[in-house]
Amino acid sequence: MTISVSSRIKLAVKREDREATIIRVGDTLVGGEKIAVIAGPCSVESREQLMEAARSVKSAGASMLRGGAFKPRTLPYSFQGLGVEGLEILAEAREETGLPIVTEVISPADVEIVESYADVLQVGARNMQNYPLLRRVGRADKPVLLKRGLSSTIEEWLGAAEYVMDGGNGDVILCERGIRTFERLTRFTLDLAAVPLLKEVSHLPVVVDPSHGTGHRSLVAPMARAAVAAGADGLLIEVHPRPEEAKSDGAQSLKPGEFRSMMEGLGPVAQAVGRIL
Ligand code: PEP
Ligand code: MN
Repeated sequence: MTISVSSRIKLAVKREDREATIIRVGDTLVGGEKIAVIAGPCSVESREQLMEAARSVKSAGASMLRGGAFKPRTLPYSFQGLGVEGLEILAEAREETGLPIVTEVISPADVEIVESYADVLQVGARNMQNYPLLRRVGRADKPVLLKRGLSSTIEEWLGAAEYVMDGGNGDVILCERGIRTFERLTRFTLDLAAVPLLKEVSHLPVVVDPSHGTGHRSLVAPMARAAVAAGADGLLIEVHPRPEEAKSDGAQSLKPGEFRSMMEGLGPVAQAVGRIL
């Protein structure tokens, strides 16, 4: 090992006697040979919008459906999500498509209701250091998708994973979603070196979110290919049936046809690095 992290991080780090963690979500495995593709809109906006998104990502080969019902928006005036109504719509989409649901929880008080609907609990970048929330999802019996904080180091991120695992929930999926740098033409700077680095120091599965990581629809497919080439176990991709009407993150959301093309382009890359899509 050429890179080492603080010896105070115990549970999230690789050890000779610990296998790579593979997390089962319904019929999907995260961390196995197959690349897990989590796709769907930024926010659940309506039943029609979500069902349309769910059907399109399912038919293009996604393995899980995403959609935010509780949204951590930068301004209080922005759309905050449909809340429990959004969770009900997600559950209906799971019923129809069979896709497991990944959705964000932003408050410890909401974990109980969100985990009663979700298959995977997403902890967003803005909450990566919300320690009461990390402790609460650490007591949940659903896997946690832990996004990297906007300005967090990899050690701080592993420290956050440690909180979840210390609570008894070892099913943590790390999600690289870009960090703040001086660059302004992209929304964030997608740190793809984090992928092989994490593979070197941690046993946890790693997924990459090139949607938030770039902020631009045109950059999503190239960075998704790069993420798979770098060894990512999965991808998180925002897809909206009509991005121009999206209530959040339209500029970075793929249209259904673009998502399908992205999936087609990923197959050969996955194969080149010994994975399947
Ligand atoms: C999201 O996934 O829509 C989201 C809010 O992501 P992040 O926490 O990475 O900004
Ligand atoms: Mn979003």
